[in-house]
Amino acid sequence: APAARVRDLTKVYGKGEAQVRALDGVSVDLASGEFTAIMGPSGSGKSTLMHCAAGLDAATSGEVFVGDVDITALRDKELTTLRRDRIGFVFQSFNLIPTLDAQENILLPLAIAGRKPDPAWFDTVIDTVGLRDRLDHRPSELSGGQQQRVACARALVSKPEIVFADEPTGNLDSTSGTEVLNFLRRSVDEFGQTIVMVTHDPVAAAHTDRVVFLADGKVVDEMREPTAAKIL
Ligand code: ADP
Ligand code: ADP
Repeated sequence: APAARVRDLTKVYGKGEAQVRALDGVSVDLASGEFTAIMGPSGSGKSTLMHCAAGLDAATSGEVFVGDVDITALRDKELTTLRRDRIGFVFQSFNLIPTLDAQENILLPLAIAGRKPDPAWFDTVIDTVGLRDRLDHRPSELSGGQQQRVACARALVSKPEIVFADEPTGNLDSTSGTEVLNFLRRSVDEFGQTIVMVTHDPVAAAHTDRVVFLADGKVVDEMREPTAAKIL
Protein backbone atom coordinates (compact mmCIF):
# COMPACT_ATOMS: atom_id res chain seq x y z
CA ALA A 1 0.00 0.00 0.00
CA PRO A 2 1.25 3.56 -0.62
CA ALA A 3 2.68 5.41 2.39
CA ALA A 4 0.50 8.37 1.42
CA ARG A 5 -2.16 9.16 -1.16
CA VAL A 6 -3.25 12.60 -2.34
CA ARG A 7 -6.72 12.63 -3.91
CA ASP A 8 -8.17 15.43 -6.04
CA LEU A 9 -6.53 18.06 -3.84
CA THR A 10 -7.55 21.67 -4.39
CA LYS A 11 -6.26 24.76 -2.60
CA VAL A 12 -7.70 28.19 -3.20
CA TYR A 13 -6.08 31.22 -1.55
CA GLY A 14 -8.02 34.46 -1.10
CA LYS A 15 -11.54 35.47 -2.06
CA GLY A 16 -13.39 36.91 -5.07
CA GLU A 17 -11.26 38.69 -7.67
CA ALA A 18 -8.08 37.98 -5.73
CA GLN A 19 -8.57 34.20 -5.72
CA VAL A 20 -5.59 32.03 -6.60
CA ARG A 21 -6.14 28.34 -7.36
CA ALA A 22 -2.75 27.08 -6.15
CA LEU A 23 -3.75 23.39 -6.48
CA ASP A 24 -6.34 22.27 -9.00
CA GLY A 25 -7.27 18.60 -8.58
CA VAL A 26 -3.91 17.02 -7.74
CA SER A 27 -3.80 13.23 -7.23
CA VAL A 28 -0.52 11.47 -6.41
CA ASP A 29 0.34 8.14 -4.78
CA LEU A 30 3.52 8.08 -2.72
CA ALA A 31 4.69 4.48 -2.72
CA SER A 32 6.26 3.08 0.41
CA GLY A 33 10.04 3.04 0.21
CA GLU A 34 10.17 5.38 -2.76
CA PHE A 35 11.96 8.73 -3.15
CA THR A 36 9.78 11.18 -5.10
CA ALA A 37 10.71 14.66 -6.32
CA ILE A 38 8.14 17.38 -6.96
CA MET A 39 9.30 19.82 -9.66
CA GLY A 40 7.72 22.66 -11.60
CA PRO A 41 8.05 26.38 -12.29
CA SER A 42 7.90 28.96 -9.51
CA GLY A 43 4.25 29.43 -8.51
CA SER A 44 3.15 26.02 -9.86
CA GLY A 45 1.99 24.86 -6.41
CA LYS A 46 4.92 22.75 -5.17
CA SER A 47 5.11 24.28 -1.68
CA THR A 48 1.34 24.32 -1.34
CA LEU A 49 1.17 20.62 -2.26
CA MET A 50 3.94 19.82 0.21
CA HIS A 51 2.31 21.77 3.03
CA CYS A 52 -1.18 20.35 2.42
CA ALA A 53 0.10 16.77 2.01
CA ALA A 54 2.12 17.08 5.23
CA GLY A 55 -0.81 18.49 7.19
CA LEU A 56 0.89 21.86 7.77
CA ASP A 57 -1.81 23.69 5.84
CA ALA A 58 -5.51 22.90 5.21
CA ALA A 59 -6.63 22.09 1.65
CA THR A 60 -9.82 23.60 0.22
CA SER A 61 -11.08 20.20 -0.97
CA GLY A 62 -9.80 16.68 -1.59
CA GLU A 63 -8.21 14.08 0.65
CA VAL A 64 -4.75 13.20 1.91
CA PHE A 65 -4.27 9.71 3.34
CA VAL A 66 -1.24 8.95 5.50
CA GLY A 67 -1.49 5.19 5.80
CA ASP A 68 -5.24 4.66 6.22
CA VAL A 69 -5.92 8.01 7.91
CA ASP A 70 -7.53 10.87 5.97
CA ILE A 71 -5.65 13.75 7.56
CA THR A 72 -7.99 16.36 6.01
CA ALA A 73 -10.73 14.98 8.31
CA LEU A 74 -8.71 15.28 11.54
CA ARG A 75 -9.19 17.85 14.27
CA ASP A 76 -6.20 20.13 14.91
CA LYS A 77 -5.10 18.21 17.98
CA GLU A 78 -5.23 14.82 16.23
CA LEU A 79 -3.40 16.26 13.25
CA THR A 80 -0.64 17.66 15.47
CA THR A 81 -0.20 14.24 17.06
CA LEU A 82 -0.15 12.45 13.70
CA ARG A 83 2.42 14.92 12.31
CA ARG A 84 4.59 14.51 15.36
CA ASP A 85 4.46 10.70 15.46
CA ARG A 86 4.30 9.71 11.79
CA ILE A 87 5.76 12.47 9.61
CA GLY A 88 9.29 13.86 9.32
CA PHE A 89 10.12 17.34 8.01
CA VAL A 90 13.24 18.84 6.44
CA PHE A 91 13.15 22.52 5.44
CA GLN A 92 15.42 24.69 3.32
CA SER A 93 16.28 26.75 6.38
CA PHE A 94 17.38 23.80 8.66
CA ASN A 95 15.29 25.14 11.61
CA LEU A 96 17.74 24.00 14.28
CA ILE A 97 17.73 25.41 17.83
CA PRO A 98 20.96 27.46 18.13
CA THR A 99 21.45 26.84 21.87
CA LEU A 100 21.21 23.04 21.58
CA ASP A 101 23.97 20.76 20.30
CA ALA A 102 23.46 18.41 17.36
CA GLN A 103 22.41 15.43 19.48
CA GLU A 104 19.93 17.54 21.47
CA ASN A 105 18.49 18.95 18.24
CA ILE A 106 18.14 15.46 16.77
CA LEU A 107 16.35 14.16 19.87
CA LEU A 108 14.19 17.24 20.53
CA PRO A 109 11.02 16.07 18.69
CA LEU A 110 11.15 12.75 20.56
CA ALA A 111 11.76 14.55 23.85
CA ILE A 112 8.77 16.82 23.23
CA ALA A 113 6.65 13.76 22.47
CA GLY A 114 7.87 12.14 25.70
CA ARG A 115 9.45 9.31 23.74
CA LYS A 116 12.85 7.69 24.16
CA PRO A 117 14.97 7.00 21.10
CA ASP A 118 15.67 3.41 20.11
CA PRO A 119 19.46 3.42 20.85
CA ALA A 120 20.38 1.02 18.04
CA TRP A 121 18.35 3.02 15.54
CA PHE A 122 19.86 6.30 16.77
CA ASP A 123 23.35 4.86 16.23
CA THR A 124 22.45 3.63 12.76
CA VAL A 125 21.09 7.03 11.72
CA ILE A 126 24.07 8.92 13.18
CA ASP A 127 26.62 6.67 11.48
CA THR A 128 24.80 6.70 8.15
CA VAL A 129 24.51 10.49 8.16
CA GLY A 130 28.17 10.85 9.21
CA LEU A 131 27.65 12.96 12.34
CA ARG A 132 29.29 10.77 14.98
CA ASP A 133 32.11 13.28 15.70
CA ARG A 134 29.81 16.32 15.56
CA LEU A 135 27.15 15.37 18.12
CA ASP A 136 28.31 17.87 20.77
CA HIS A 137 28.60 20.79 18.33
CA ARG A 138 26.07 23.59 18.18
CA PRO A 139 24.64 24.66 14.81
CA SER A 140 26.96 27.72 14.68
CA GLU A 141 29.93 25.34 14.85
CA LEU A 142 28.70 23.28 11.90
CA SER A 143 28.79 23.87 8.14
CA GLY A 144 25.51 24.31 6.26
CA GLY A 145 25.72 20.76 4.95
CA GLN A 146 26.33 19.40 8.46
CA GLN A 147 23.40 21.45 9.81
CA GLN A 148 21.09 20.06 7.16
CA ARG A 149 22.31 16.53 7.91
CA VAL A 150 21.42 17.17 11.57
CA ALA A 151 17.95 18.22 10.39
CA CYS A 152 17.71 15.03 8.30
CA ALA A 153 18.74 12.88 11.28
CA ARG A 154 16.12 14.69 13.40
CA ALA A 155 13.48 13.87 10.77
CA LEU A 156 14.45 10.18 10.64
CA VAL A 157 15.14 9.33 14.27
CA SER A 158 11.44 8.92 15.12
CA LYS A 159 11.02 6.38 12.25
CA PRO A 160 8.38 8.40 10.42
CA GLU A 161 6.25 6.73 7.75
CA ILE A 162 7.06 9.55 5.38
CA VAL A 163 9.53 12.44 5.24
CA PHE A 164 8.69 15.72 3.48
CA ALA A 165 11.70 17.76 2.36
CA ASP A 166 11.09 21.28 1.02
CA GLU A 167 14.10 22.40 -1.08
CA PRO A 168 16.51 20.69 1.36
CA THR A 169 19.55 21.63 -0.76
CA GLY A 170 18.33 25.13 -1.66
CA ASN A 171 20.74 26.90 0.74
CA LEU A 172 23.71 24.58 0.18
CA ASP A 173 26.70 24.52 -2.17
CA SER A 174 26.74 21.53 -4.50
CA THR A 175 29.18 19.45 -2.38
CA SER A 176 27.08 19.86 0.78
CA GLY A 177 23.91 19.34 -1.22
CA THR A 178 25.25 16.06 -2.54
CA GLU A 179 26.05 14.88 1.02
CA VAL A 180 22.47 15.56 2.04
CA LEU A 181 21.03 13.90 -1.07
CA ASN A 182 23.28 10.86 -0.62
CA PHE A 183 21.99 10.47 2.92
CA LEU A 184 18.36 10.75 1.82
CA ARG A 185 19.04 8.22 -0.95
CA ARG A 186 20.69 5.78 1.50
CA SER A 187 17.78 6.11 3.91
CA VAL A 188 15.47 4.98 1.09
CA ASP A 189 17.75 2.15 -0.09
CA GLU A 190 18.88 0.88 3.32
CA PHE A 191 15.97 1.71 5.65
CA GLY A 192 13.04 1.67 3.20
CA GLN A 193 12.24 5.28 4.10
CA THR A 194 9.55 7.04 2.01
CA ILE A 195 10.60 10.58 1.02
CA VAL A 196 8.99 13.40 -0.93
CA MET A 197 11.22 16.32 -1.90
CA VAL A 198 10.41 19.63 -3.57
CA THR A 199 13.33 20.85 -5.66
CA HIS A 200 14.21 23.19 -8.52
CA ASP A 201 17.46 21.38 -9.18
CA PRO A 202 17.61 18.62 -11.84
CA VAL A 203 20.81 17.27 -10.25
CA ALA A 204 18.99 16.90 -6.91
CA ALA A 205 15.95 15.33 -8.61
CA ALA A 206 18.26 12.81 -10.31
CA HIS A 207 18.84 11.23 -6.85
CA THR A 208 15.17 10.22 -6.69
CA ASP A 209 13.15 7.32 -8.14
CA ARG A 210 10.43 9.41 -9.68
CA VAL A 211 9.72 13.03 -10.53
CA VAL A 212 6.19 14.49 -10.52
CA PHE A 213 5.95 17.71 -12.52
CA LEU A 214 3.46 20.43 -11.59
CA ALA A 215 2.28 23.38 -13.67
CA ASP A 216 -0.52 25.77 -12.76
CA GLY A 217 -1.58 23.62 -9.82
CA LYS A 218 -1.92 20.42 -11.84
CA VAL A 219 0.21 17.31 -12.33
CA VAL A 220 1.34 17.57 -15.95
CA ASP A 221 4.02 14.88 -16.25
CA GLU A 222 5.87 12.15 -14.44
CA MET A 223 9.29 10.56 -14.95
CA ARG A 224 10.74 7.29 -13.61
CA GLU A 225 14.48 6.79 -13.13
CA PRO A 226 15.17 10.47 -13.71
CA THR A 227 18.54 11.82 -14.81
CA ALA A 228 19.52 15.48 -14.87
CA ALA A 229 19.90 15.28 -18.65
CA LYS A 230 16.39 13.87 -19.12
CA ILE A 231 14.90 16.60 -16.89
CA LEU A 232 16.67 19.44 -18.74
P1 ADP B 1 5.77 26.97 -5.78
O1 ADP B 1 6.14 26.31 -4.52
O2 ADP B 1 5.68 26.01 -6.95
O3 ADP B 1 6.61 28.16 -6.13
P2 ADP B 1 3.44 27.88 -4.31
O4 ADP B 1 2.75 26.67 -3.82
O5 ADP B 1 4.31 28.63 -3.38
O6 ADP B 1 4.26 27.51 -5.64
O7 ADP B 1 2.36 28.90 -4.90
C1 ADP B 1 1.33 28.51 -5.81
C2 ADP B 1 0.44 29.72 -6.08
O8 ADP B 1 -0.26 30.07 -4.89
C3 ADP B 1 1.21 30.96 -6.53
O9 ADP B 1 0.40 31.66 -7.44
C4 ADP B 1 1.34 31.74 -5.23
O10 ADP B 1 1.45 33.11 -5.49
C5 ADP B 1 0.05 31.40 -4.52
N1 ADP B 1 0.18 31.44 -3.04
C6 ADP B 1 1.01 30.67 -2.30
N2 ADP B 1 0.85 30.93 -0.98
C7 ADP B 1 -0.10 31.88 -0.90
C8 ADP B 1 -0.73 32.57 0.19
N3 ADP B 1 -0.40 32.31 1.45
N4 ADP B 1 -1.67 33.49 -0.11
C9 ADP B 1 -2.03 33.73 -1.40
N5 ADP B 1 -1.49 33.12 -2.47
C10 ADP B 1 -0.54 32.21 -2.22
P1 ADP C 1 11.26 27.33 3.03
O1 ADP C 1 11.51 25.84 3.05
O2 ADP C 1 10.35 27.76 1.89
O3 ADP C 1 12.48 28.17 3.17
P2 ADP C 1 10.61 27.27 5.85
O4 ADP C 1 11.54 26.13 5.95
O5 ADP C 1 10.99 28.46 6.65
O6 ADP C 1 10.36 27.67 4.33
O7 ADP C 1 9.13 26.83 6.31
C1 ADP C 1 8.06 26.68 5.40
C2 ADP C 1 6.75 26.72 6.20
O8 ADP C 1 6.65 25.59 7.09
C3 ADP C 1 6.57 27.96 7.05
O9 ADP C 1 5.24 28.41 6.88
C4 ADP C 1 6.81 27.50 8.48
O10 ADP C 1 5.98 28.19 9.38
C5 ADP C 1 6.43 26.03 8.44
N1 ADP C 1 7.31 25.24 9.31
C6 ADP C 1 8.65 25.30 9.33
N2 ADP C 1 9.14 24.42 10.21
C7 ADP C 1 8.08 23.77 10.75
C8 ADP C 1 7.95 22.72 11.71
N3 ADP C 1 8.99 22.14 12.29
N4 ADP C 1 6.70 22.31 12.04
C9 ADP C 1 5.64 22.88 11.47
N5 ADP C 1 5.71 23.87 10.55
C10 ADP C 1 6.91 24.31 10.19
